[in-house]
Amino acid sequence: MQTATLTTRALKLSDKSLFISLIVPVFNEQANIERFVAELSQFIQAYTTKWEIIVVDDGSSDNSAALIAALPVDLNVKLLVLSRNFGKETALSAGLDHCNGDVAIIIDADFQHPFTTIPEFLAQWSQGFDSVYGVRTDRNDESWFKKTFSNLFYRLSIALNEVSIPPHAGDFRLLDRKVIEALKKCPEHNRFMKGLYAWVGFKSIAVPFTVQERAAGKSSWNYRRLLGLALNGIFSFSNLPLRIWGLVGLIISSVAFAYALWIVFKVLFFGIDVPGYSTIVVGIMFFGGIQLLSIGILGEYIGRIFTEVKRRPNYLVAEKKGFEDDALRHSRAGGNPGC
Ligand code: UDP
Ligand code: MG
Repeated sequence: MQTATLTTRALKLSDKSLFISLIVPVFNEQANIERFVAELSQFIQAYTTKWEIIVVDDGSSDNSAALIAALPVDLNVKLLVLSRNFGKETALSAGLDHCNGDVAIIIDADFQHPFTTIPEFLAQWSQGFDSVYGVRTDRNDESWFKKTFSNLFYRLSIALNEVSIPPHAGDFRLLDRKVIEALKKCPEHNRFMKGLYAWVGFKSIAVPFTVQERAAGKSSWNYRRLLGLALNGIFSFSNLPLRIWGLVGLIISSVAFAYALWIVFKVLFFGIDVPGYSTIVVGIMFFGGIQLLSIGILGEYIGRIFTEVKRRPNYLVAEKKGFEDDALRHSRAGGNPGC
């Protein structure tokens, strides 16, 4: 069975019949996008005759969508314009929901992910791996603060999460159809893709790559967004912070109980002495702080439950271009191409 899959995969690669979906999230990339799509489509033709480049315009406020819509049809580019900026994680899900390939390759529009890694992804896929993820070999382009922050995040998530997220793996990766379908079954609103890729599992392997300089424009990540993503990564994938506070509560109440016994003992044997005001003040502040902290942790979860129970769609599509054939195919099959 396994060898049969291997030969089919190798065959598809060698006779260039593998249908490859390239998923490109775009947010204000007007300086890059035309050259990027043209070069990507040129590059991929060395490996297949069947490809689609799904560009997800994540509510750009510049001219990106219009530039993509005007690209020549023979580049096989499809455009999905979201109704506003939903964030990269959601844009990627929109792309995956709308792709038809045997495999999907997720790649940034700013030339930071080298095309030359794509053949390595394909080679690993043909060896039987369903999820092939790029791991950045160096993070030299980043500030000390960002590097320390990301190392801390990975340490914490490894310690807390039930699934381990491979350190320094990003969204640059190849996913087999099996993995795409599995990801489509994860309907959550608080999407943290790195966690979801790890959660769905499947046979995975890392491929190292060196991050390139951004060709033009500037990165849209700021510390507020990064912090939001990191919190999502921790609280959407682990209940451990909740449990830790249960444990802390237990330890503190045991200590308090022992202390109460000690006071009773002291009063009985040595009589009443001057009450310790400082102990009381420190005690009140300490417990007040602990309570606020644990309420904050509860709040992180409740906030996430709140967004999940509203059951709003994860994204809304304002405009589609190039998906006409897909709609026809879906209506024949009786399916729904999604919103
Ligand atoms: N992006 C997006 N939505 C956003 C932010 C970014 O689709 O809200 C896209 C962006 O156009 C690019 C990719 O995600 O193709 C990576 O973003 P960026 O280069 O800003 O991040 P960095 O490389 O600094 O992590
Ligand atoms: Mg970038």
